[in-house]
Amino acid sequence: MSGPIRPADAECEDEALRGVEVREGRRAEVGGLPIARVLPTKGRRTVGPWCFVDLMGPEEVLDPDPMEVGPHPHTGLSTVTWLLSGEALHTDSLGTEQVIRPGQLNLMTAGRGIAHAELGTPDEATRGVQMWLAQPDATRNGANAFEHHGDLPRLALDGAEVALLVGGLGEGPTSPARQDHPTVGAQLDLRAAGGVEVPLDATFEHGLVPLDGPVLVAGQVVEVGSLALVPAGAEVLPLEVRTPGRAMLLGGAPLGEDVKMWWNFVARTTDEITAAWRAWRDHDTDRFGPVPSILDRIDAPTPPWVRTP
Ligand code: MN
Repeated sequence: MSGPIRPADAECEDEALRGVEVREGRRAEVGGLPIARVLPTKGRRTVGPWCFVDLMGPEEVLDPDPMEVGPHPHTGLSTVTWLLSGEALHTDSLGTEQVIRPGQLNLMTAGRGIAHAELGTPDEATRGVQMWLAQPDATRNGANAFEHHGDLPRLALDGAEVALLVGGLGEGPTSPARQDHPTVGAQLDLRAAGGVEVPLDATFEHGLVPLDGPVLVAGQVVEVGSLALVPAGAEVLPLEVRTPGRAMLLGGAPLGEDVKMWWNFVARTTDEITAAWRAWRDHDTDRFGPVPSILDRIDAPTPPWVRTP
């Protein structure tokens, strides 16, 4: 029988685990959905290559509006879409039309430019996680691409079931999803009894994002809507929950590149962002092709550093 979470009971022998930091996310609204933005967080833009993490629908909502995110552009990043409930239609400028359901992965890589739209099913709450991976210099100006993975590899740990979105954990299978940089992304289904020790790549930094209820991460309570930052060096991450629930584990080799983010663009300089903003404003279909969607195109705000639009 499992008792309440007792932080004092958690083992914290690993030096790196003493550096675990808990950050509260910012509440906002995107496409009619309440969200908690847990990354970027103060003073910290990336965890491995992960540069953006929105928890969509952090709490259950009565009579939710359907998710409606009209055509908008991206550069220099891959969007990683993971649903917990509901479903959504993804369309993009490659001509993709793909419905995504819980347990499936959409991975859209922008490279120099792509545009897409997302439309949730009416009358059903869309809960999930919208994440971005910053592309490294080697690929960020390259071709765009889209992958859908309906059947991801899973593995069993003592105390948790794992679905591998990107990369792998310890010995065992690896996700077939594209990697532009050494990355791990996994959903952990945590059981209540006894906790779990998640094997980590010690060269990676990691983030832990609770999805259903609080998770004890190396002795610290992390609530839904918050993020635990786990520095590189840890070989095992001890997790514990009071009631069964899910969490995302996101990590990777430190990116080592100074990422600039504004609106839906990831770049390295403001000039690059200005060029992408101008291409979207001017309907430059060479860079951002048309998106098949019933939704209205989303206009970019003018960057604060641009004087004459
Ligand atoms: Mn998007």
